[in-house]
Amino acid sequence: MTERRKAAPLGAARTRVPRIRRPRGAALRIHAHVVLDRLLAAYPGAHCALDFGNAFELLCATILSAQCTDKRVNIVTPALFTRYPDAASLSAANPEDVEDLVRSAGFFRSKTKSLIGMATGLVERHGGAVPADMDALTALPGVGRKTASVILGNAFGRNDGIVVDTHVTRLSNRLALTSQSDPVKIERALMPLFPQERWTLLSHLLIEHGRQVCLARAPRCGDCMLSDVCPSARC
Ligand code: SF4
Repeated sequence: MTERRKAAPLGAARTRVPRIRRPRGAALRIHAHVVLDRLLAAYPGAHCALDFGNAFELLCATILSAQCTDKRVNIVTPALFTRYPDAASLSAANPEDVEDLVRSAGFFRSKTKSLIGMATGLVERHGGAVPADMDALTALPGVGRKTASVILGNAFGRNDGIVVDTHVTRLSNRLALTSQSDPVKIERALMPLFPQERWTLLSHLLIEHGRQVCLARAPRCGDCMLSDVCPSARC
């Protein structure tokens, strides 16, 4: 157990707590609380990085974001949304036209299939509207639990799940919030550690920290406001 002193970065609230290599039980819940508090202080504006105006647009953007940066998706989606503003128009689209619009987001053939399939599912089962329901969303072609959680949390304000992407996976492990590597198991491990009303925000915070500080190849531990409590700190 080591206690370290370090200058607090701007905006980060500091709570002096011991660093435990593999916290468990009550220590793990306290550790999670400290992590959340500091991330909230450091990233007060954390939010979904995908541009969208409604649930349908977010659903399209999230499908396109697989294996692609949010920045690239935000370049691709304006033309897509102009051409196909709703599920009815996208469900009737010529696949080749959609492929041309989403090509630069990668995997454009399978993403086009998912987009048109999802839109067709919305038209046939939900009158063209996006359902605010996990089971109904995950029953749509191309929509898994992660995508559904993004929609529910960011378009409907429902914290029904925690989005676990590569950043959340990496940071959850480095911060010893879990030792799981499977996204579903990580989500299950994180849920009891954080208040449900914070689940959507938690993902945004971890993603933001993963992008800015806890980088995949070279984490900037020397600049990290969690280094005194992080078991993986390299400083
Ligand atoms: S101390 Fe290093 S490994 Fe731990 S969260 Fe910060 S940047 Fe990541």
